[in-house]
Amino acid sequence: MKVHLRSLGCRLNQSEMDTVARQLQQQGHEIVTDAAQADAVVVNTCAVTQDATRTSRLTVRELHRANTDAAITVTGCYAHIAPAEIQVLPGVTRLVDNLHKETLVETLTGQPAAPFDREPLERDQHPGAVGRTRAFVKVQDGCDNACTFCVTTIARGAGRSRPLTDVINEVRYLFALGYREAVLTGVHLGSYGHDRGEGDGLIRLVQTLLAETDMPRLRLSSLEPWDLSPDFFDLWQNPRLCRHLHLPLQSGCDTTLRRMLRRTTQAQFRTLVQAARERIPEARITSDVIVGFPGETEAEFETSAAFIEEMDFAGLHVFRYSRRPGTAAARLRQHVGEAVKKQRSAWLLALAEAGERRFCERFAGRTLDVLWEHIAGATEAGFMNVGYTDNYIRARCLHPRVLTDHITPARLHSYVEGQMQATPVLEAL
Ligand code: SF4
Repeated sequence: MKVHLRSLGCRLNQSEMDTVARQLQQQGHEIVTDAAQADAVVVNTCAVTQDATRTSRLTVRELHRANTDAAITVTGCYAHIAPAEIQVLPGVTRLVDNLHKETLVETLTGQPAAPFDREPLERDQHPGAVGRTRAFVKVQDGCDNACTFCVTTIARGAGRSRPLTDVINEVRYLFALGYREAVLTGVHLGSYGHDRGEGDGLIRLVQTLLAETDMPRLRLSSLEPWDLSPDFFDLWQNPRLCRHLHLPLQSGCDTTLRRMLRRTTQAQFRTLVQAARERIPEARITSDVIVGFPGETEAEFETSAAFIEEMDFAGLHVFRYSRRPGTAAARLRQHVGEAVKKQRSAWLLALAEAGERRFCERFAGRTLDVLWEHIAGATEAGFMNVGYTDNYIRARCLHPRVLTDHITPARLHSYVEGQMQATPVLEAL
């Protein structure tokens, strides 16, 4: 069977579709990048904002137009929270909610997916797969927190962790396939193991992966600040752990944080970031923030913006508050107008851009290891190689060779359009 997979939204969705792709190929099915060639299509939807649900609907319609014969299976958060809105879309033959995603392959093929092992590697020619550099590895799902704006807890249920041995096997499998970096991802990654009573579950997971696999790089995706104690940062004594911390703040104002039911404050967040910078001096610290949360006054926004400026993030995702059905915040009063949200978002995006440039320029003239990921173009002079340092600086270099999938030292020069010009040092290759 030829299957086209489309993933929308977060890294967790992406990692789930990557896993489905590998499991389908292990069964001998083919993953096609062109939906027009597919017998079956799977869409992993997102519902984090109204825009995300609109994009999910548009994507299903677009895929049906591309191939009216293909059976479309829809899964993901939007399918979970609003099945009736999906069922009416053209071409949709099946819905699989988030709690049954693990059986998606069996639903599609009638055969249960095989656990990850090394044996099928020989069979494992990945048509259409680009570069095997960075793999997203789902280690946890669901969340037990109750942030009032968040629809993810509704869509993904209570927190649950994958068995440690499963994660180790998958990371070993990915390394054997040639991947050079594993990104651990989940809805609430910091709570890994909590559902089994392991308060230090994430620390033990990272220590075990570093000790029992040869994956050159391990990266952690988003971490809620309240899950981390200062000694968490001792993990970074191991140079294989990427110096990148994504710590969602959501607001820099304590009054707004209380209405969001976020389990952090300005003071706690400041202490955590200071501890991280002391223990991991060259770490890239990035964050998420929402503007226009119900009741966010001009004064609250100014407090938030001042705190964000003080934190000097090296990157910031700015979201305009989006009312989500079933969330506590949707029932709050004093919703903020779109024009005001737009203004506040532009203010923070300018701060974010300046912070990113400041961080990257600190490394001008330095040599750092870069994992080259893809080719962004070619000229007579060579290939435009693009990759990332462990502290997530995007680097690019024009070079006669294709460097994809290789980790090489590279001298970083100047910051141009969000990335550092670089010269690879190739003796290492
Ligand atoms: S921690 Fe909060 S924002 Fe994150 S998934 Fe859980 S409820 Fe949502």
